[in-house]
Amino acid sequence: MNSRLNEIQKADPEIYEAIMGELQREQNKLVLIASENYASPAVMEAQGSIFTNKYAEGYPNKRYYGGCEHADVVESLAIARAKEIFGAEHANVQAHSGSQANMAVFFSVLNPGDKILGMDLRHGGHLTHGAAVNFSGMIYENVFYGVDKETGYIDYGIVRELALRHRPKMIVAGASAYSRIIDFKIFSEIAAEAEAMLLVDIAHIAGLIAAGLHPSPVPYADFVTSSTHKTLRGPRGGMIMCKDKYARAIDKAVFPAVQGGPLMHVIAAKAVAFKEVLTKGFKTYQEQIIKNAKRLSEELKRRGYIIVSGGTDTHLMLVDLRSKDITGKEAEEALDRADITVNKNSIPYDDKPATITSGIRLGTPALTTRDFKEEDMEEVADIIDKIITAPNQEHNLEAQRKRVRALCKQKPIYGRQS
Ligand SMILES: *Cc1c(COP(=O)(O)O)cnc(C)c1O
Repeated sequence: MNSRLNEIQKADPEIYEAIMGELQREQNKLVLIASENYASPAVMEAQGSIFTNKYAEGYPNKRYYGGCEHADVVESLAIARAKEIFGAEHANVQAHSGSQANMAVFFSVLNPGDKILGMDLRHGGHLTHGAAVNFSGMIYENVFYGVDKETGYIDYGIVRELALRHRPKMIVAGASAYSRIIDFKIFSEIAAEAEAMLLVDIAHIAGLIAAGLHPSPVPYADFVTSSTHKTLRGPRGGMIMCKDKYARAIDKAVFPAVQGGPLMHVIAAKAVAFKEVLTKGFKTYQEQIIKNAKRLSEELKRRGYIIVSGGTDTHLMLVDLRSKDITGKEAEEALDRADITVNKNSIPYDDKPATITSGIRLGTPALTTRDFKEEDMEEVADIIDKIITAPNQEHNLEAQRKRVRALCKQKPIYGRQS
């Protein structure tokens, strides 16, 4: 991993130091951020490749620049693999991020002022599903659904009621902090009844869907967007899938409406990641992510923690800390001091502001990439509990940090060879 950084070391020692620092951080801390992962060395090589030099505005065989013959190979493979993985009619792999994928979908079929029905950010939705501080909240009119206060599950009855009452032009399904299977078939029935289009944003669960471990929205949705760097374990980026009838509108929305030249080095890395997704090992990996999440959730419950909705079907869980007399912010900071990285997260109906919160979100994709198994999750749960139980005792934090260090040493981020 280090060998290729000699040039940076010579040209820019400050950036070199920061990259080395980041390598140490990723190696020596336990990452339980549900949206993070470790892309493979092959993916990183593609992303660091010579394709960063190439302008390729347009699409394969329809470019606005010469010299695109190799770019065409790369993008065509990425598109074909994306379609194969998800069974999609059309795929666009140029979106720079998950957020820009959503922006392109909205731009392709909505006008300013049109109505969107999306999941409330505070109940697990994403900024781009209509939050006031985001373009989706600034340009469009927004209505939100959430989860049931008692069960923590999406209340499809309320989604239907809101859809019929407000008649949105677009319904958005998908979430950033929801641990249960989402019923895309019900969403499509509601959309049909309300004569709305359906966008499903699978940024978090794309890997699970690719492996057949979460039902796919592709047969049901007009549009499916995703990031490529979360459970899918590719480079940072986005993608869009849609029915053939929207193919032209989507491609025009991505370029030239929202973006300029595609990031060909990132698209090369997406293609490499998609090839990895198509291997048998990827399914085993995704199965282990879920087994680990379920075990972590069970072990935390055994130690008196409340998990929103009572558990998880996916790679993540929301821990309600109100039974432990600590805020999300305090828990995040205490865990960080003992080398465990998580994010504070609002829980549904949280009475604390987003800067404090009553919860933390935990996910297992990153730890599973470094080969953590169920029994390791028991150790992780115990360390988390010990930290949260005595967050200000220095000798306790030091003891837990030691246990974290032992786990990190045993399970390096890029295997024993690197
Ligand atoms: C992470 C996420 C995105 C956006 O991803 P970026 O690549 O960070 O823009 C979009 N939607 C959902 C539901 C997400 O969780």
